[in-house]
Amino acid sequence: MRKPFIAGNWKMNNTIAESEELIQALLPRVGAIEDVDVVVAPAFLSLQAVVDSARGSAVAVYAQNMHEKDSGAFTGDVSAPMLEEIEVQGVILGHSERRQYFNETDRSLQQKVPRALEAGLIPILCVGETEEERERGDTERKLRHQVQEGLEKVPKERLHEVVVAYEPIWAIGTGLTATPEQAQDAIAFVRALVADRDREQAERTRILYGGSVKADNAAELLALPDVDGALVGGGSLEVDPFATIIDAAVDAVRS
Ligand code: PEP
Repeated sequence: MRKPFIAGNWKMNNTIAESEELIQALLPRVGAIEDVDVVVAPAFLSLQAVVDSARGSAVAVYAQNMHEKDSGAFTGDVSAPMLEEIEVQGVILGHSERRQYFNETDRSLQQKVPRALEAGLIPILCVGETEEERERGDTERKLRHQVQEGLEKVPKERLHEVVVAYEPIWAIGTGLTATPEQAQDAIAFVRALVADRDREQAERTRILYGGSVKADNAAELLALPDVDGALVGGGSLEVDPFATIIDAAVDAVRS
């Protein structure tokens, strides 16, 4: 049984004061939920404030990126020990916006994912195809490459600790959502790729869908057999839609 996982990626939104306001409004709605892992990922500067606000609640706080090295001449970057020190619990890695705008590569993710685990951080490894890749029939090839590279240096017995997010790039922030069939097929394919490393670990690995998940489409997506949760961008920036998505995950567990 895989515990559902709903993560809100706040991206480059919210000052520290706004982040505190959002988490304070969210906690009474979702701070005690136990059936679902609930995560928020604020911008680096807001992490400490949100960690402090969420301490003692069921809401975990993740970063949106980290460097694979622990320290060094990497201006503007942040490392796993720095995140660990402020009690961040996990980190989103390989988000398509990092890949597209900041040259994140599968090669660096090959280092980042195991480094996060070693530091006690849960990695959310993001993968997904562009619109052109889907149209060319290259979706599986792209996913195979990203999943194999990203997980290559993760010890077999720790594979299930990695959360994988399948996010078709054409659905992120566009209002377009994968059809249930597209989401289920791609996520089942990702699970089969993890199973190529270890079948039992693949059954335990949480695989999320991301791409314009909203209050009104969450229930349908979360009911799919291989979809273990959602990575939510725009829909996590306000309390009501995000809480509704989490409620849909709670309902999916209970049904
Ligand atoms: C995301 O940031 O990972 C994402 C899926 O964004 P949105 O929900 O806004 O499409």
